[in-house]
Amino acid sequence: MIDLNRRNVVLAAGGALAAGAVGAPVWAQNPGRKLGYAIVGLGGYGLGVIIPQFKDCQHSRLVALVSGDAAKAKRVAAEYGVPEKNIYNYQNYDSIRDNPDIDIVYVCLPVSMHAEYTIRAAKAGKHVLCEKPMAMNSAECEAMIAACKQAGKKLMIGYRCHFEPFNLEAIRRARAGEIGKLRYFRSEHGFNFSNPNAWRLKKAMSGGGSMMDIGIYALQAARYMTGEEPVALYAKETTDRSDPRFREVEDMIDFQLEFPSGVIGSCMSMYSANQNHILLMGDKGRIEMEPGTAYKGNRLWVGKGRETEITPKDVGANQFARQLDHLSECVLQNREPIVPGEEGLRDIRIIEAVYRSAREKRRITL
Ligand code: NAD
Repeated sequence: MIDLNRRNVVLAAGGALAAGAVGAPVWAQNPGRKLGYAIVGLGGYGLGVIIPQFKDCQHSRLVALVSGDAAKAKRVAAEYGVPEKNIYNYQNYDSIRDNPDIDIVYVCLPVSMHAEYTIRAAKAGKHVLCEKPMAMNSAECEAMIAACKQAGKKLMIGYRCHFEPFNLEAIRRARAGEIGKLRYFRSEHGFNFSNPNAWRLKKAMSGGGSMMDIGIYALQAARYMTGEEPVALYAKETTDRSDPRFREVEDMIDFQLEFPSGVIGSCMSMYSANQNHILLMGDKGRIEMEPGTAYKGNRLWVGKGRETEITPKDVGANQFARQLDHLSECVLQNREPIVPGEEGLRDIRIIEAVYRSAREKRRITL
């Protein structure tokens, strides 16, 4: 079972309820202590999405930047109050070990760099939050987990939907049996890729195409919505290789997941159309989200169709700040994150099987 039982959903929601369940939290005894994050990679996600979220964090603060672009790092540091002594580049990155301001390193780099920068962070004595997909392959994931274990440091994967109010509400309702016995799951995730020169389209940097980058949301949702692990799968790839975007990586992958209870998951991943949809069908009704995994504006319906729209109680909660604070709380309380390295590894193993199934045109038992 995926590690999203009720207790962990409460923990993921990150707050008073969880604190009450485990006794006086460390941060309550030491309220001034916010853990310091270093962001590695000031790109679309690291700079554009993550850095602005620290203002909403209770237990986390931005203390350092790692970038190959000194001028950009200096500009960002000035804007967010990061001292210049805490700006690093990829060459002097290992010297973060001498900087006690930094507790956690957040790896927001192309996939091919995740393993290296995670392992170097662990060796420098820092905890790690690493973006999805965890790495190029399962061997790299295993090496990352081993390095963090050996260093005695936490490793968490950037699966923000585990902290997102609509997804948590949907999971809660599915587990409470509101739609009866689960029968099938469907999800389509994709976007229309416009830049043919992006690293995501270079296999040596991305590890693969839409499946690694966006199909992983459909796979994750299949696992956390059903609460089960797939036991077999069948995948089919459809890619127009004359399209300059898809010389190295796949466009569409359609994959079917078989779950132990008999639930079937039907997922579509693509780089040539915009879609973000989740549907969980039970014998008494359905849970539907569209969009389901967006940064904001997710919508949820529970019932027979779309007649009853649900707004979670914590609708305004910031999924990114919760994610950052979750790892800080885990470090402060010496708990395992709800989405540890092992969770990233599980997805990468399944994705490897998806690629193998598409290549060999056969059902793969997991
Ligand atoms: P991006 O291309 O916008 O940024 C990548 C950063 O890495 C840039 O700052 C770039 O300068 C730096 N970099 C260092 N060496 C590089 C090299 N050799 N080639 C290219 N870039 C190099 O990418 P992004 O969209 O910010 O994605 C970064 C990571 O974040 C990826 O793992 C991606 O999957 C993940 N991501 C996650 C989410 C989410 O919702 N969880 C959303 C977007 C991206």
